Amino acid sequence: MTIDIQKARQDTPGCEDVLHFNNAGAALMPKIVRDTVVNHLEREMMIGGYESANEARDRTQAVYTSIATLIGAQSNEISLMTSASHAWVQAFYAIPFQAGDKILTARAEYAANYIAFLQVAEQYGVEIIPVPSDEYGQLSVTALGELIDDRVKLIAMTHVPTNGGLINPAEAVGAIARQHDILYLLDACQSVGQLLVDVNKIGCDMMSVTGRKYLRGPRGTGFLYVKEDRIPQLIPPTLDLHSAEWTDVTTYEMKNDGRRFEKWESSIANRLGLGAAVDYALAWGMEEISERVITLASELRTKLSSIPTVTVQDIGQNQCGIVTFQVDGQDENEIKATLAQQRMNVTVSGRSSTRLDMEARDLEHIVRASVHYYNTTEEIDRFCTAIETL
Ligand SMILES: *Cc1c(COP(=O)(O)O)cnc(C)c1O
Repeated sequence: MTIDIQKARQDTPGCEDVLHFNNAGAALMPKIVRDTVVNHLEREMMIGGYESANEARDRTQAVYTSIATLIGAQSNEISLMTSASHAWVQAFYAIPFQAGDKILTARAEYAANYIAFLQVAEQYGVEIIPVPSDEYGQLSVTALGELIDDRVKLIAMTHVPTNGGLINPAEAVGAIARQHDILYLLDACQSVGQLLVDVNKIGCDMMSVTGRKYLRGPRGTGFLYVKEDRIPQLIPPTLDLHSAEWTDVTTYEMKNDGRRFEKWESSIANRLGLGAAVDYALAWGMEEISERVITLASELRTKLSSIPTVTVQDIGQNQCGIVTFQVDGQDENEIKATLAQQRMNVTVSGRSSTRLDMEARDLEHIVRASVHYYNTTEEIDRFCTAIETL
């Protein structure tokens, strides 16, 4: 089955208004997501916040099941979060670090994650070791294997970085983590929703994802996956009456499922909206989505490369829907502004969001054009014409 593009675009009112190549920032929501959020807010207004939450209980529970289906997990392994960063920190700071522990990471690691590494390095005397990249620019699996010793507490890697088409070899990393029984935290913020991501195939213990990017959910949503048998050893930095139960005046018990990492208060409307976005993606099929995203991005790279003034900056053996480039003599932020005047959305990735990678490649800023399955060849051509005539 292939994706019915006309229907996908009809479901996406924003398509009529803008050429949206900022799907790695926040993709355009399909109508069903907006309707789901708004309908629930309407119920909150009409019957009360607690009462409407009760009314939506089964549908809220179904969000966990939908997410579990999407990533090949069980619903008790899912925690609903307000962002990918929220998901990531809840998992990361739950790891009992000790002086001398090592964290192995990749060169394309996201700034927020690296800042957290630096913080625990400072607090506990943990050592951060960025694994070298291979000739394609992805994490070198061989180098990773050579760096493993009994002090390695965690392998934390970004699957698809914020600043380019690279897809890191998540599955090969998982095989090494499993072989040595090392905790493996995958930042899948940019991959879930555009690529097939199966936690069992990958072999990660923890995975963080956002709602607003390739999943096309509302802002202020995300989720965490923690493998069932890893939950008992992870102690969240903060607890409340939802993540734990006050069992006696002097005792409490943490939950043994994904709720351990959540907080009680949440936007039910946003959670339902995230569920609607996941169901909508599943209805198209992740294989179909992925195939089209990769094809469109590769078409965009090829066409951009044929413009003499353009340098495509993507690295990696396998590449995804994120396309990055520079144009000779043009400031990246000005390119973005000029395109915006023509109703074309892109963004600019700066050095400090993925410092190790950007410094290694001597890049300060790059334009990021990220496509989704609802984009078209006509849009790619229009975009390339705009770049050519800058
Ligand atoms: C966007 C991004 C994040 C952060 O996601 P939020 O939902 O904004 O917290 C984390 N990691 C990567 C690789 C990202 O691109």
